[in-house]
Amino acid sequence: MAQHLTLISCITLFLLLLIVPSNAGNPTRKKLPSKYENLEIKEPLMVLSNSKNPESLHVPSNSENLATKERQPFGFLNHLKGGKKGENLAGIRELKKYLNKFGYLNYKSINAHDNDHFDDMLEAAVKTYQANYNLKITGILDSETISKMVMPRCGFPDIINGTNSMTKKHQGHQHHSPNKLHIVAHYSYYGGSYKWPAGKTHLYYWFETHITSLSVKRAVRGAVNRWASYTQHFSFEETLDSQSSDLTVTFYRGDHGDGSAFDGPGGVIAHAFFPTDGRLHFDADEPWSIGAIPNYVDLESVALHQIGHLLGLGHSTVPDAIMYPGISYGVVKTNFHPDDRQGIKALYNF
Ligand SMILES: [Zn+2]
Ligand SMILES: [Zn+2]
Repeated sequence: MAQHLTLISCITLFLLLLIVPSNAGNPTRKKLPSKYENLEIKEPLMVLSNSKNPESLHVPSNSENLATKERQPFGFLNHLKGGKKGENLAGIRELKKYLNKFGYLNYKSINAHDNDHFDDMLEAAVKTYQANYNLKITGILDSETISKMVMPRCGFPDIINGTNSMTKKHQGHQHHSPNKLHIVAHYSYYGGSYKWPAGKTHLYYWFETHITSLSVKRAVRGAVNRWASYTQHFSFEETLDSQSSDLTVTFYRGDHGDGSAFDGPGGVIAHAFFPTDGRLHFDADEPWSIGAIPNYVDLESVALHQIGHLLGLGHSTVPDAIMYPGISYGVVKTNFHPDDRQGIKALYNF
């Protein structure tokens, strides 16, 4: 009897193994390298292959509403409208963190400023922000200022080490002092110069292995090729060998260990590191698209901007420039502006 039961158990187990595939419920996701073990990487364009039009994303019917509802990382700003110096307003502490993150405040310790008081330093920071974004310089959180601040944007700071890259363009990156680099501690290992060395004009790029979508790769390749033909200085080549790559492309969500945590849908959408670091990170939580789709962010447009950072460019005040920090949903922005050309030419003297 016991032998009979054992035999039945074995047969049952064998049948179960046959029926249940090892990747049940998740047929498209490959096993990630150990450092991503706890990270659920969204394949942003995974439904694309089912689409009749290969260049447009199939959008599930309720996802637009969902995306809009969840897109709140900078939502606190809407409650600060009209705020000015001397006031105490709930949420000012969040504004201080925001302006500190993007370089407008240079706190030694954010804890000392963790309060809702609109002080002198904050007013000065708001004025600098307004100057950078071509707004009326009032120091008051008027609706124009708030509407700029809530835009989805690049995580790269506008001001680095106290040097405002948006007003003193192309000068800031040469004077690097790691001691003062409070805002972006992870940039401090770049060393003295934020550019690729002379003669290093052919750059190898590598997609992190979790990126399996051909559409994602195609979008990034498209951006890379645009920079190549635009500069006529850099050329790029994809490599499958991470060790030999100069540039790496990765999707992350939330805190991913480089000191600049992503913040879910909206808010910061991507960031990249100056030469010769070469890392480009996209926020996996963004509603990415290929092409202009309402409430979605065009991947190639953002890749184009981030590659500018990989080449050493900071942000531009020109809204039409690729290097402008913010991007709107539902737009494709892949045309360079003369300002972009001036930037890259000044940096590399070609
Ligand atoms: Zn940027
Ligand atoms: Zn990152």
